[in-house]
Amino acid sequence: MTGKVYLVGAGPGDPELLTLKAARILADADEVLYDALVSKEVLALVSRDAQLIDVGKRAGKKLLTQDEINSLLISYAKENNVVVRLKGGDPLLFGRAGEEIEALRVAGVDFEIVPGITAAVGAAAGAKISLTDRRLASQVLFTTFSRGETSNWLNWAAVTPETTIAIYMPGTHYGEVADRLVENGLSPETPCVVVSQATRAEEQVRWTNIAALRSEAQLRAPSILLVGRVATQSVAEWGARINPELLKSGETNDVRLNSEKKN
Ligand code: SAH
Repeated sequence: MTGKVYLVGAGPGDPELLTLKAARILADADEVLYDALVSKEVLALVSRDAQLIDVGKRAGKKLLTQDEINSLLISYAKENNVVVRLKGGDPLLFGRAGEEIEALRVAGVDFEIVPGITAAVGAAAGAKISLTDRRLASQVLFTTFSRGETSNWLNWAAVTPETTIAIYMPGTHYGEVADRLVENGLSPETPCVVVSQATRAEEQVRWTNIAALRSEAQLRAPSILLVGRVATQSVAEWGARINPELLKSGETNDVRLNSEKKN
């Protein structure tokens, strides 16, 4: 069998952010199964001879189930084809790659993963902030907002005032996200920035904080929320507000976890 499946990251939208490897594989493909988030400009790089298959979800309505997608990948590869599973951003972040990897392994199909630029990184570039600005942050958490599934949401043990949180799929009501962040101990003053359609011509950047988030008008999907001290245009000002001595011990007056206060 010479067929192979490539799980390829399409990046956040700007086709110039695609890797050279992704572009080469798209030009070689026999079948391309793509998600709703993949931009038209990236799809334009797919070989004219390839079959383009839209497997995206729209407004919660699935075009194909995950099992159907897995079966298609396997059957095309068994026809000795070059099969591309093209996903927005990076294929390994919030993209159900785990299920596909498992199915391909079980079926004994050869596969390779081609990383892409994830939305959080594209959004940080759009907002021109450093996710790990060493004056204000020590770690980054990639997470998603899924209603009603607290256990599935944040590992709060990992959240400190120095954590930058990238929230994928923030949903339609930022208020719910704000509530959840505050419930779990983040100060309402914590800065955040909403980036809609990062790296695309229509990109929008909205500076706010957790308290004001609930009254923010929803920006066009896809949008991502970056939360934390670095999510501001005035990092220096924030730094100055934080007592350097307290910062060393992980405690500050400004952004302090309630859980820390309770302890
Ligand atoms: N694998 C993707 C994420 C898929 S989940 C990645 O690595 O980026 C889909 C979520 O990603 C969207 O709901 C949105 O929160 C975010 N997203 C994807 N593309 C985006 C873009 N261009 N701008 C802002 N957010 C984006």
